[in-house]
Amino acid sequence: MSAQPPEKDKRPSYTSAVHDGEPKQFAHDSLTPPIVQTATYTFKDTAELVAYMEGHREREEYGRYGNPTVRVLEERVAALEGTEDAVAFASGMAATTSAILALVGQGAHVVLFNDCYRRTRQFVTSFLSRFGVRYTLVGSADLAALEAALEKDTKLVISEAPTNPFLAVVDLPRLAEVCRERRVKTLIDSTFATPFNLRPAELGIDLIVHSATKYLSGHNDVLAGVVAGKSGLVSLVRDVRHMMGAVCDPHTAYLVHRGMKTLALRVAQQNQTAQALAEALEAHPAVARVYYPGLASHPNHKAATATMRGFGGVVTFELKGDLASTGRFIDALQIPRIAPSLGGVESLVEQPALMSYFELSSEERERIGMKDTLVRYAVGIEDTQELIQDVLNALKVAGLSKQ
Ligand code: PLP
Repeated sequence: MSAQPPEKDKRPSYTSAVHDGEPKQFAHDSLTPPIVQTATYTFKDTAELVAYMEGHREREEYGRYGNPTVRVLEERVAALEGTEDAVAFASGMAATTSAILALVGQGAHVVLFNDCYRRTRQFVTSFLSRFGVRYTLVGSADLAALEAALEKDTKLVISEAPTNPFLAVVDLPRLAEVCRERRVKTLIDSTFATPFNLRPAELGIDLIVHSATKYLSGHNDVLAGVVAGKSGLVSLVRDVRHMMGAVCDPHTAYLVHRGMKTLALRVAQQNQTAQALAEALEAHPAVARVYYPGLASHPNHKAATATMRGFGGVVTFELKGDLASTGRFIDALQIPRIAPSLGGVESLVEQPALMSYFELSSEERERIGMKDTLVRYAVGIEDTQELIQDVLNALKVAGLSKQ
């Protein structure tokens, strides 16, 4: 696959988000995919079993190996990502860890960007290192450091686009090119982007991972994960699922699939609200800094505009205050709820100092760039102007603004 800039109009349209990846006809002529709630599948007689074993009959065998409702979700993600295949899991972490396990073994070397999702980083640096997998961490979006880190045994490069919480966007076409030249596989966690905003496979990336818990399902009510890519690689990842067993259950698959019907609508609204919120915050005297790839001030604005159709629904910003006044601001917000996660219809907000980085001291947080005054705001699909007005009002209530 060539590393050309994407044709933006090839990405999922409102129509494709509703129809892509679906068979013409479901069982019982149902409009929606039936939820096939079974642990196993029966064979009519031994002749059918033998035909299946000899590969003459395509069908399901056992729940851990496949389920028709889950298959509908997998085909839908593959269609929207523009990949040959996809495989679904019980959570985003099950998807990520299974994809990594499929590609590395003892003695392998992995390169990760240091702003990868915290648990992914821990899986490689603390867990896999116990089994003889070596790693190098490189700085956010730093492709020169990535090139320098590649070794003879490097098997995999892991990145995220955009990253959490500073929304860094690495130059994916260049990353894919560098890795392809060295025969190194690439894995991108595209949870924050969604296939509506970014299609990493078109840029030459090998495997795409989603925490479907976020935008794909979109309603903050399920945990699920998906890995998409070429059939050969996806079947390696599916084999890991067959052994590790972190399957997506059919009811969850149905909910993710249903949520994906409105993905284009939701993401378009979230892109628009987040851009407007980022601009309002950047213009506000109580705000020290805003991180949003759609702003010209973002260090990766150029890479983002070259590859993304929209910049996603998360806005991160630092207030001109301290730990306490930032907490007061968050408490004064009337619309978003305080919770980890993102990508659902409800806006969510968090102060990383009190959530993911609570165990560190202020000084330790400062050293890794997580200021006490940092806020991560994941917009939902509420009214844009009401969300912005709520933020402006909360800045006043918190004593951070007189405006
Ligand atoms: N990747 C990213 C970027 C995430 O934000 C998360 C969860 O927050 C995950 C992966 C893990 O997904 P899950 O919580 O579905 O296991």
